[in-house]
Amino acid sequence: MNGVRGESMSECIFCKIVSGEIPSNMVYEDETVYAFYDNNPQAPVHILFIPKQHIASTSEINKENSSVVADIFEAIAVAANELNLDEGYRVVSNCGRQAQQSVPHLHFHVLAGRDMTWPPG
Ligand code: AMP
Repeated sequence: MNGVRGESMSECIFCKIVSGEIPSNMVYEDETVYAFYDNNPQAPVHILFIPKQHIASTSEINKENSSVVADIFEAIAVAANELNLDEGYRVVSNCGRQAQQSVPHLHFHVLAGRDMTWPPG
């Protein structure tokens, strides 16, 4: 299966992070979900939650694979409690060019540790 921009799973940097081929600073892992610190943080806490399975973006969520989205949000709640993100946090998923998705493997940014603004840019 190919992701957006013709990128294959074997070339996907987040698939390589899941396999350990590319190192990451892990926050959370279970059977279906992996989470790690973003290497270009946009807030004092910036974590990426991804499915271990390659899904290119929110546009590729369907009946067959959508249970992993629930798994990811359960994982976010666990990690937020463990990291004491009591003041709140923001969950963001950029999908496609206009939203500036730069990695074509579904991911949810969790940003915390500072006051946010709304609407986002
Ligand atoms: P997006 O632009 O929404 O697709 O988000 C992709 C995110 O992945 C960006 O915030 C990048 O900083 C982050 N990122 C890219 N490569 C790595 C990596 N090897 N380790 C950690 N974060 C990464």
